[in-house]
Amino acid sequence: VAAGLAAAGVTVAALVESAAPKALLRRAPVWAAHPAKLAEGAGYAAALLRHRVPVLTRHTVVEAHGTGRLEAVTVAALDAGGHVRPGTARRVPCATLAIGHGMLPQTDLADTLGCRLDGLAVHVDTEQRTDVPGVWAAGEATGIGGAGLSLAEGHIAGRSAAARLHGTRPDPAAWARAARARDRGRAFAAALDTVYAPPAHWTEQVTDDTTVCRCEEVTAGAVREAVADLGAGDVRTVKLLTRAGMGWCQGRMCAPAVAGLAGCALTPSHRPFARPVPLGVLARQPDHRDDMSHPTGKETG
Ligand SMILES: Cc1cc2nc3c(=O)[nH]c(=O)nc-3n(C[C@H](O)[C@H](O)[C@H](O)COP(=O)(O)OP(=O)(O)OC[C@H]3O[C@@H](n4cnc5c(N)ncnc54)[C@H](O)[C@@H]3O)c2cc1C
Repeated sequence: VAAGLAAAGVTVAALVESAAPKALLRRAPVWAAHPAKLAEGAGYAAALLRHRVPVLTRHTVVEAHGTGRLEAVTVAALDAGGHVRPGTARRVPCATLAIGHGMLPQTDLADTLGCRLDGLAVHVDTEQRTDVPGVWAAGEATGIGGAGLSLAEGHIAGRSAAARLHGTRPDPAAWARAARARDRGRAFAAALDTVYAPPAHWTEQVTDDTTVCRCEEVTAGAVREAVADLGAGDVRTVKLLTRAGMGWCQGRMCAPAVAGLAGCALTPSHRPFARPVPLGVLARQPDHRDDMSHPTGKETG
């Protein structure tokens, strides 16, 4: 993203990365098996260098400053255990702060259909079938690993579905190449996940007045109080006591942060609505029932 912004003419004040370069080197054998990805990474590094974007590894943003709009952030160095190193904080003027703390598969549709999840991703077999007959899943819903992995999984799911829906058993030899790409893609994604896991003690950097659930304006202090004073031991109880995750996004954004602050596991939440839609959008939809029963569109009273 930083390379893209810089190429588009944006002045990137800094790229702040909490992972250590050492962690990347430790997985060198995995990267070596992906020369195209290595070349892609080298291309980004070269672009950052060309645009003179300062890259701060093993650093994190600990504070954002500004009244009405962002004016600067404070960044600080992290020690090997993920704690902020005292005395390293410094202010970086900027107008926009983009933050990523990892990615989560969007599983609402599969979950609503009753598909089993493996952790936070949809469980699939080698043919990309879920445990619900007639439902296949491919791409990010089954675990995030980039476009190549999604395409390979989609290829396999498509071939499997085409055969199974005709009552025949598919021949995995037909998708051997895609299966190899899938294995490689998953190995690459798993290695990236370990390198870029959020720093172990990230919750220490979240002050009590930090808004965690933006929809319901619930602060980190309120979440901590629910755990320490009111005895909440899971995300659902925290939600009931504080309203964190009860708003518009239904926890899509804040659930991992709430779980981290509460010190409990992030469990999939069952949301009957895959995507919140304002009533006005539904009200403006044409009435398809009339169209279907009267193909000419004429009203019959
Ligand atoms: C900014 C950005 C940069 C990226 N750069 C790279 C890169 O450089 N290299 C790389 O490998 N990957 C990159 N990726 C990731 C890559 O785009 C994804 O891995 C890939 O698109 C995933 O494919 P998918 O089919 O699983 O999901 P998507 O491509 O997201 O497709 C899901 C589709 O489902 C639709 N949908 C969602 N919910 C519903 C619903 N309720 N009802 C109906 N339809 C619905 C969406 O509209 C969408 O069309 C990038 C992603 C982003 C956001």
